[in-house]
Amino acid sequence: MLFAYQYISHDLEKMHGYMDYIFYEIWIKANILNDFDISLFDDNKELQAIFNYLYLSDNSPKYGKKFVGSVKKIFDFCKSLSWFQRRKLSYWYKVNNKIEDLCNGKYKPALYSDLNTINKDLSNEIKSIYDNLYSQNKIGLKEISTHYTDFVKINNKGICPFCGIYPMDGEFSDTREAYDHYLPKSKYPFTSINLKNLPPMCHKCNSGYKGVKNPIFDSSDNRRKTFYPYTDSTDIKIEVNLSSSDIQNLQHEDIDLTISATEQEKTDTWQELFGIDIRYRALFCGADGKAWIQQIIGEAPDFNMNSSEYLEIKKRQFEKNPYFEKNFLKITFLEACKENGVFN
Ligand SMILES: [Zn+2]
Repeated sequence: MLFAYQYISHDLEKMHGYMDYIFYEIWIKANILNDFDISLFDDNKELQAIFNYLYLSDNSPKYGKKFVGSVKKIFDFCKSLSWFQRRKLSYWYKVNNKIEDLCNGKYKPALYSDLNTINKDLSNEIKSIYDNLYSQNKIGLKEISTHYTDFVKINNKGICPFCGIYPMDGEFSDTREAYDHYLPKSKYPFTSINLKNLPPMCHKCNSGYKGVKNPIFDSSDNRRKTFYPYTDSTDIKIEVNLSSSDIQNLQHEDIDLTISATEQEKTDTWQELFGIDIRYRALFCGADGKAWIQQIIGEAPDFNMNSSEYLEIKKRQFEKNPYFEKNFLKITFLEACKENGVFN
């Protein structure tokens, strides 16, 4: 990605914390605990109050009964697991939530197919509870929009860091961007409500490109490294060379596009996940490329300069604000145009 997000602590993380408690203190200890009832939560009064509301109160919501029902079912499955199976389950839970390490190629994450080897019904129930905990606008009991507003106050570049092309809704917008399950929730158990696995991204990146693609395994099932959205600072360099100066009729194959970085493996993964190569070529060939050239040629006379001189001035402006109006792409494309004599 072009730049990293800053992770923010938020009330929404509590849900993940509650699930940690349910996992380690209720499910994994099921064999030594009494039958499932509200007293199992005596050591976590906050969660106990939530369970009371979700299950026992007169106005318990339907989803609350379903959630508590699932927690109990998994508890009952766990009661009969062997010590070895419980240990395996604990390890998978821990590893699958080490999102940064997994992005860096460490550990082998568990898949639902791994959980099936313990018990298929248990695996299905875990999938059901985690899918339900993350629904379109909520994580558990809390609205995602409250997180988004706080998130974009800090992460306020206004542009999607995964493509650099599309703007992101900001703190003053009344809508929000999508949250992507970076490690797909359909494949990896226990990850659906971990905010470290939920980077916001523009709709096009989320729905048009990334989708359920797996950032840590390629299509031939080889492990690969990927940018962790919250800490990886990147030094991506984009170079463009043109083999045609017929800018009005520029085609994809006329553009030699090289994208390099210190962490090349992560950069290659990023390009594949988000279709970067084809999207950038499309901009250069299309209306954007033509408008950028026209701006230089059209405005230069107003400043009594030729196009090449004016390009130098504009480049300095673009460099100061690289992610505004795709300036980082403008610079490299217009340079290539200059090299190819477009401004002569
Ligand atoms: Zn994007």
